[in-house]
Amino acid sequence: MNNKEYEVLVKKSKEISLKWRTLPAPQRGELIRLFGEELRLQKVQLAQTITKEARKIHTESLGEVQEAIDMCDFAVGLSRQLYGLTMPSERPNHRLQELWHPLGVVGCITAFNFPMAVFAWNFCLAAVCGNSIIWKPSPHANQCAKGIKKAWDKVSGDFADLILVLEGGNEEAVLICKDKRIALVSATGSTQMGKELAPMVSARLGKLLLELGGNNAAIVCPSADLDLTIKGIAFSACGTTGQRCTSLRRLFVHEDIYDDCVKRLRNCFDDLIIGCPTKEGSQIGPLISEESYNRMQEILDSLKSKGVDVIGGERINIEDPKEFYVKPALVLVDTIEDEMLKETFAPILYVKKYLDLKDAIFMQNNVSQGLSSSIFTNDMRESELFLSESGSDCGIANVNIGTSGAEIGGAFGGEKDTGGGRESGSDAWKNYMRRVTATINYGDELPLAQGVEFDES
Ligand code: NAD
Repeated sequence: MNNKEYEVLVKKSKEISLKWRTLPAPQRGELIRLFGEELRLQKVQLAQTITKEARKIHTESLGEVQEAIDMCDFAVGLSRQLYGLTMPSERPNHRLQELWHPLGVVGCITAFNFPMAVFAWNFCLAAVCGNSIIWKPSPHANQCAKGIKKAWDKVSGDFADLILVLEGGNEEAVLICKDKRIALVSATGSTQMGKELAPMVSARLGKLLLELGGNNAAIVCPSADLDLTIKGIAFSACGTTGQRCTSLRRLFVHEDIYDDCVKRLRNCFDDLIIGCPTKEGSQIGPLISEESYNRMQEILDSLKSKGVDVIGGERINIEDPKEFYVKPALVLVDTIEDEMLKETFAPILYVKKYLDLKDAIFMQNNVSQGLSSSIFTNDMRESELFLSESGSDCGIANVNIGTSGAEIGGAFGGEKDTGGGRESGSDAWKNYMRRVTATINYGDELPLAQGVEFDES
């Protein structure tokens, strides 16, 4: 997109935001309700677009559109609940109140792996809060963005410009980040991307919401229900071909159950059905690109060269030269290898023994990322320690479920190199509004706060 076209886009977005913000929030919610209805009607078609572009298996693509629908439902309810607090004033005949107002234009930069849901997290909240949005999708997912925009255009009447799509690569993302007219930049992608873009937004003192890479771990305790645990691990580590920000990458297993757990995991990984994502029954589709495949192999080669035990990880179904199907890799480590500290966006699961739960929690937290974590246990003391202030340092901490597959009702996001942002449920909507603290004096005197005297007579 050239500069002139970009200017037109931002101008349009700004103009529509000024109109949209004057609609009462429940009326904004009504349009989001219609959008949700349209997504329901187009669910299968939109899911097919996700499968075609992002190569997700059909059931996961359907789940992703469902997530966008769920976000619409959530936002409709929220449109009547944008509550501000009222606080007691220390002065007589005074009232203290919080008001929440829209920010204006929100810029939304998204990754390839959730090409519709992450946009929906942002758009549904941003819209009921009274903002317009400019969406820069992943270059791997432009058709998904077009599909969503088309659904919006069908129901939005005069407010079609509330969603404007800015197709392109890194340059377009940079335009958004440097543009003072864009009040909030919500960026989802790798930590590297966040580190490059965040200083641009901060330099103009813009607001930022960062949803970056993860390096998620699970701990399996002696009391764990292993049937449930293996299922949870398999979906988290191998589902979406290990290409979720919440994918399980590291597993710490108590030594008493280590051999049994590894044996079961090997059998389970062997049984997974890897194949064309459009084919019924496929559980694992291909990696997004050859580049992604090469990165996975580099990591595995590096581990093998050090004598680390790598099971699986090889390319399969090579009769289709354009697709990169891989067998998920189990990597059995005795010590923490450097490779474990990075996020490799592919199905590689590192497994390490532990003796003491506190050590396992330490190893889990001892990475730069802080997105998702799990413990598998039936011992209440262990799960409560894991959830306590001395436990997991992640934004997501689960008990007896895997690290991936969050519901929209909770706030989603993570700490440290994951960026600190929170999107989706709970009170994440506050990120899309500005807070005004209003003090109202309904008396006929002017007492000053903290008892300060300033008598002009
Ligand atoms: P990516 O970082 O390559 O790209 C994400 C987006 O940022 C794209 O729109 C891309 O065009 C843009 N971008 C990337 N680098 C840029 C740069 N240097 N300058 C300007 N723009 C840039 O990520 P991806 O490969 O699409 O997705 C995978 C990554 O996203 C993983 O690290 C994953 O953990 C992360 N992710 C995080 C979440 C979360 O909620 N925390 C959700 C999904 C994906």
